[in-house]
Amino acid sequence: VRTGHPEATELRLRHVAGTYHWFEVVGVDLRTDPNIGGVVLNAREVGDRKQAEERLVLSEARFKALVQHSTDLVVVIDSHGRVRYASPSVSEVQGEEPEELLERMAEDVFRESGVDWHHALRTAVAEDGGAARVLEFGFRNSDGEWRNIETTVTDLRNERAVGGFVLNARDITDRKKMEQRLRFQATHDELTGLANRSLVLDELDGILSRNHGATTVAAIFLDLDDFKDVNDSLGHAVGDQLLVMMADRIRSMLSFGDMAARIGGDEFLVVLERGHGERDITDLCDQLLTTIASPYEIDGRQLSVSASAGIAFDHDRTATGEILLRNADTAMYRSKRGGKHTTTVFEPFMHTASFDRLELRADLAVALDDDQFVAHYQPIVDLATGRITGTEALVRWNHPRRGLLGPNVFIPLAEETGQIGRLGHWVLERACTDMAAWRSGLGAAADHLTMSVNLSVQQLHDDGLVPAVLEVLDRTGVPADRLVLEITESTLITDTDKIRDRMEQLRALGLRLAIDDFGTGYSSLGYIQQFAFDVLKIDRTFVDGLERFTNQRIVTAVIELAKELGVRTVAEGIEQELHAELLRDLGCTLGQGYLYSRPVPAAEFAELLVGPLGAAVAAPSV
Ligand code: C2E
Ligand code: MG
Ligand code: MG
Repeated sequence: VRTGHPEATELRLRHVAGTYHWFEVVGVDLRTDPNIGGVVLNAREVGDRKQAEERLVLSEARFKALVQHSTDLVVVIDSHGRVRYASPSVSEVQGEEPEELLERMAEDVFRESGVDWHHALRTAVAEDGGAARVLEFGFRNSDGEWRNIETTVTDLRNERAVGGFVLNARDITDRKKMEQRLRFQATHDELTGLANRSLVLDELDGILSRNHGATTVAAIFLDLDDFKDVNDSLGHAVGDQLLVMMADRIRSMLSFGDMAARIGGDEFLVVLERGHGERDITDLCDQLLTTIASPYEIDGRQLSVSASAGIAFDHDRTATGEILLRNADTAMYRSKRGGKHTTTVFEPFMHTASFDRLELRADLAVALDDDQFVAHYQPIVDLATGRITGTEALVRWNHPRRGLLGPNVFIPLAEETGQIGRLGHWVLERACTDMAAWRSGLGAAADHLTMSVNLSVQQLHDDGLVPAVLEVLDRTGVPADRLVLEITESTLITDTDKIRDRMEQLRALGLRLAIDDFGTGYSSLGYIQQFAFDVLKIDRTFVDGLERFTNQRIVTAVIELAKELGVRTVAEGIEQELHAELLRDLGCTLGQGYLYSRPVPAAEFAELLVGPLGAAVAAPSV
């Protein structure tokens, strides 16, 4: 208390009741006044105001302490959209120091966010004047990176310690990326990055529902020919690489708005819409097939694979994506059956055919256990004498409802479903058993007879093949050199080394090998020299057109090569005497065809053996 200058002081005093109260106290020094002789305290309680101010300081400090150390980003924006406060952690995401952000407008701090701040902040208030709301947005930070933020907005404009909208934000950039990735994975093929089945069907449905007839919508179904051979023989890694390269090629052929998808192992779907109708689409499809079929180079090795295509147009504008896909698949299957590497446009009549295929697949599963297969035998004759030197076992399926089915219908199915191994073994066993019966029953008539059995490429890749063949020969007592195993030429182009090894193992058993359907594969005359084989079967397409000079030249070259290699030639599919004569003149020794006999059941073949064409004096045999 200063003498003569009474000044107010604030004191915190405890009440008798025990609580503290604030007083504004003015002390007046009246010690010299004889009437008083002391200091007079003139006190006025000021408790309310003081407490409010103290609370403010405290809450400001608490707010600062809270937000300064929070990993969340805290930004306070006033009602004009100006930044009033930014916590230190903001700089990690936004890129600038908190002080640099002060007084700047929110849209300048969160660039390209697209957030209407005025609106966003108002709506935060509108709710119930203070409840937190969640807002998600992305923005470009000062380093030019795109960041995603999730923030609550709380209206604390009336809190004096804050005085604005508080954004309590978290950086969710990584989470966002992860979400995008997951979404991508759910809708795309992992290997090729193309759309997957569900995405392309969605897309197709979308296009179809928007289309009012001004454009033509189409689905192109592409399926690789014999891709399984590539996988089986060169391994999945090579197969995968091939698919990736192929996907790139397909993609490069498409225009903006088209979509390509991988919808199965070796199945692709292309969805497109064109203003000028079907011609553009079929042209594009032909180009796709050409592009896919041009050679690929993988690990220094040249590979070729072709594709078959089916196109379905949305003619009546009632189709769904699912229907269009199914129709395109059906048409594609026609292309396969028509010799592959072609395009077929879907027609409604094709439906029954595709239904058949599914049904057959199911029936095939029980056919073997149900003993529904039979072996027929077609004679192989000496072209000079017309006498039988051997026979080829050709499997048939005695289908309970459809009657006798040929191998072209079900062998591809058995290969697809992996049942070919068991089926092939059954044929071998059947053929050797019949052969043993003829040998013991017919004596000399069957003595020199050879038995030819067809092998699929999958059987060649099976390590169990060699022991299984040995076991069947042992059990049936058929001498190894009476057995010929036929391998289609086109299998030779896949995994050459492995096939070559397997062929040598088989030959080491003492049996013989034939290259079947020669001329239909991709191999050249020179190429096949590296395989050890004993018989070369000239495909019937050359025999059929043998009047033509070019075919004669090819057949002559083949026969000459065979002579050089010391292997025999068998001409397949001889139907006319004229062709038999020409073949004889060209130097072919053996033949097979309807001219001599169709493939017949075992009992009938036994009759042929003892008939005029019988093998009694036949030589040389295959
Ligand atoms: P392939 O081995 O080339 O058999 C010859 C095919 O030509 C047989 O057809 C035969 O019936 C047919 N053929 C014979 N002579 C003539 C003729 O003069 N004119 C015409 N147009 N055709 C003739 P098939 O029995 O339908 O067999 C087709 C193919 O199925 C066979 O061709 C063979 O590659 C395969 N196959 C048959 N049996 C088996 C088997 O047990 N296992 C395997 N993996 N494939 C088999
Ligand atoms: Mg054959
Ligand atoms: Mg053949």
